[in-house]
Amino acid sequence: MLRVQIDIPHPVETLFLLLATGGVWLWMSWDTPRSDQARASMVPVYQNAEPADGPARQRLGDGGADREARVLSVRSAEDEARRIRIEQAVLARREEILRYELKVIEDAAARSGDSVSVRAAREKLLALLADERTAEERLLQTLREMWEAEGLTATVAVGSPGDVHVLWPVEPDEGLSATFLDAGYEQRFGIPHNAIDIPVPQGSAIRSAADGVVDKIVDNGLGYSYIIVKHDGFATLYGHASVFFVAEGDTVRQGDVLAASGGMPGTPGAGTLTTGPHLHFEVIVEGERIDPLTVLPARTTVR
Ligand SMILES: [Zn+2]
Repeated sequence: MLRVQIDIPHPVETLFLLLATGGVWLWMSWDTPRSDQARASMVPVYQNAEPADGPARQRLGDGGADREARVLSVRSAEDEARRIRIEQAVLARREEILRYELKVIEDAAARSGDSVSVRAAREKLLALLADERTAEERLLQTLREMWEAEGLTATVAVGSPGDVHVLWPVEPDEGLSATFLDAGYEQRFGIPHNAIDIPVPQGSAIRSAADGVVDKIVDNGLGYSYIIVKHDGFATLYGHASVFFVAEGDTVRQGDVLAASGGMPGTPGAGTLTTGPHLHFEVIVEGERIDPLTVLPARTTVR
């Protein structure tokens, strides 16, 4: 029988060397997944997500208590990948977005004679321009808030669509500052615009576009705040609300005042991705956001 004999001159030292090499190799091969985990932890909204094929579907139609969790659970992996790409695109634009907000604030200051709140918002924005990390976190926070709104409206507007009859929630006296899937909006902010933006002075009355029930009020402080009203087979969303005048569960008639408008950077409800004082208005039918102009009357009929 053939025997191979290997002489190891320093067996103990060699063993230590092998263990050390193996340890380094293991550490390096673990590094990549660890980075992925670190990145995932920047997106806490995803971490609550259950697998897409989980029991979420069966639970649709339950009461409202765990609805947020269900909304997050229907996110597919593909959806998450798309969102991460969008996040990166928005972060790449962060300085441009902040400079745009600064310009909006300065224009408002020039018109209003530089009030204290405008000056404070300007200071905050200048600080953000200097602080890259905080600016990134602020942009990502707004994106998450908008995605949460997207998920919520998709759940609210399930069921057979009724006759979508809506009126203008604010007077479109100045036209639109962003249309549905506005190319300029996507270019500026890096996300598709599934709504219309109607420029109105800060604090204008937002009226319910149709009879319905206030389904959701989300007050994110200086972040993106909004109100969702459920109608017969469809839903409407009113974004950048600065003050709310109704509560969840309230029955509202078409034309009832729901909230005060916002959108001025640095003010309640504005969030980071805003084109100045305006109402962001969405119409959701069967879980999909449609162009509100296809259902709104051609002329203003708001009281
Ligand atoms: Zn908008």
